[in-house]
Amino acid sequence: MKRYFIRTVQVALLFILILACVVLFRTEQARWKKAVSVQKKEPISLADKQEYAHRLGKALTFKTISYQEEENNKWEEYKNFIKYLEETFPQVHLTLKRDIVNEHSLLFTWEGKNPSLPPALFLAHYDVVPVEEGTENQWKYPPFGGVVAEEYIWGRGAIDVKCSVIALLESVNYWVQQGYQPERTLLFAFGHDEEVGGRKGAKKIAELLKERGISPEFSLDEGMAINEGIIPGIDGPVALIGVAEKGYLSLELSISTQGGHSSTPSDETSIGLLASAICKIEQNLMPAKLAGPIRWMLEDLSPYMNFPMRMVCSNLWLFDKVLTRVFASIPSANAALRTTFAPTLFHAGEKENVLPTHAYAVVNIRMLSGDTTEKVTEYIRKIVNDKRIEIKEFSPEKTDEASPISDRNAEGYKAIAHTIHEVWGNIPVASALTLGGTDSVNYVGVAKNLYRFQPLKFTKEDLELIHGTNERLHVDNYMKGIEFFIRLLKNVGK
Ligand SMILES: [Zn+2]
Repeated sequence: MKRYFIRTVQVALLFILILACVVLFRTEQARWKKAVSVQKKEPISLADKQEYAHRLGKALTFKTISYQEEENNKWEEYKNFIKYLEETFPQVHLTLKRDIVNEHSLLFTWEGKNPSLPPALFLAHYDVVPVEEGTENQWKYPPFGGVVAEEYIWGRGAIDVKCSVIALLESVNYWVQQGYQPERTLLFAFGHDEEVGGRKGAKKIAELLKERGISPEFSLDEGMAINEGIIPGIDGPVALIGVAEKGYLSLELSISTQGGHSSTPSDETSIGLLASAICKIEQNLMPAKLAGPIRWMLEDLSPYMNFPMRMVCSNLWLFDKVLTRVFASIPSANAALRTTFAPTLFHAGEKENVLPTHAYAVVNIRMLSGDTTEKVTEYIRKIVNDKRIEIKEFSPEKTDEASPISDRNAEGYKAIAHTIHEVWGNIPVASALTLGGTDSVNYVGVAKNLYRFQPLKFTKEDLELIHGTNERLHVDNYMKGIEFFIRLLKNVGK
C-alpha cells in the first residue's frame, strides 16, 4: 500500500515537472515571435506641421453635429464643410471622382491603373456628437473654435473622427501632388451620420458600391487604435486592429395585468413579474468564451508581456478557464467574452396608490459573432419562461447583427500591420474585437474584409476625451496618423 502511495506521488510529481517544463518552454518560446522591425522604407517628408494642424483645426469649426432628432441638424454647416474640403484640397477634387451620396455623404474614387485588382476602401465620418449642455464652460478652448494651442488641435471631432477625414485627404493630396497613381483603385467614403447609426450615410454609400458592382478587398475604419497602458503586462504602446465588431439589439419586455387599487394588491403585479424577468436575465448570462479575436489578441501580445502574463497567455490551452473567470469579473474584458445584457429602461406606474396594468423594460444587448438576433431572442424567451411577458425588438431600425470575423492573414491586414511597423517601429500589433459600433457594419457583404484601426496613439486619459469635454489631439500624434495613411495608400495601392 505504502509503495503504491509513493509510486502515485512520484508519477504526480513527474507529471507536474513535465507540465512546468512545457509551460516554461512555451513562455520562453513566445518571446521569439516578436515582430522584426522594418528595415527599408520610403522617405516621407511632411512640410510645416502647423499648416496641417490648422487645416484640421478649421475643419473642426463646422458644426456638423448629428442630433438625436435629425431636424435639429444644421445642414448649412454640412454643405460648408464639403465646400471647405473642395477649397482645401483642389487637386484631390480634380484627380478623384467625387459622388455626393444622399446629399451629405461623400464617396471619392481614385481610379487605379489596373482594373483587375479589387479596390481598397477607407472609411471615416465627419459628423460629430453634440457638446453636452452645461459643459460648454469647462472647455479650455471653444469646442468649435478650431484652436491650435499648446501643441494640440482642440475641438469636437479632433479625435472622433474628422481627423481621419482630413488626414486621408492630406495623404491623397500628398501623392496626387507627386503625380502618383495607384495600381489598385482606392475608395474613400465619408459618412455624415455615423453618430446616429450611419443609415443615411454609410449605408447609402454601401448601396451605391453594390449597385456599381464594386466589392473592395478590404475596408479600414475607426474602432481600434494604438493604446498605451490598457493591456495588463505591457507598459508600452500596443496597436490593435479590430477584425470583428459586436452586434446591437434592444429587446422590449412588456406585461399587462389587472392593475387595481394598491390597498388590495394581488400576489402578482406587472412590476413584480417584469422585475423578476429582468433578474432572471441578469442571473443567466450567455456563456463566456475566450475565443476568436480576444484569444488572438492575447496570443499576439504574449511575446511582449511581462513574465507572469506571458506565461498565462502563451499557455492558454492550460489557463484559459482561469483567465476566462478573471476576465468575466472585469466589465470591459467581460464584454469581449460574451454577448452582454444591459437593462436600460424600466417603465411602469403613474400614481403611488394605483397598481399599473402595464409595465415595460428594455434590455440593450451587444452580440458576439455567432450570436444572432434570433438566437438571442430565443435564449431570453427561454430564460424568462413566462408566456405573459411579451418580448419583441425595441428599435428594429437600430439592430445590427454582429459582424463576421475578418481574415487576419489577408493582404489588407498584413499591409496595415506592416505600415504600423513602418511608422511606430517594432511595437506589438494584435487582432482585437471592437466593442462599440462603427460605420463598418454597413459594409458587411460589400467589402470582403473589414478592419478597424485609427492610426493614433491614445492613453487611457485620451480615450475619455472621445465624446467628452476638451476633445483634443496632439499635433505630433496627428502627424503620425497622416504619415500612416500616406504609407498605407502606397503599400496597398502598388
Ligand atoms: Zn466615430
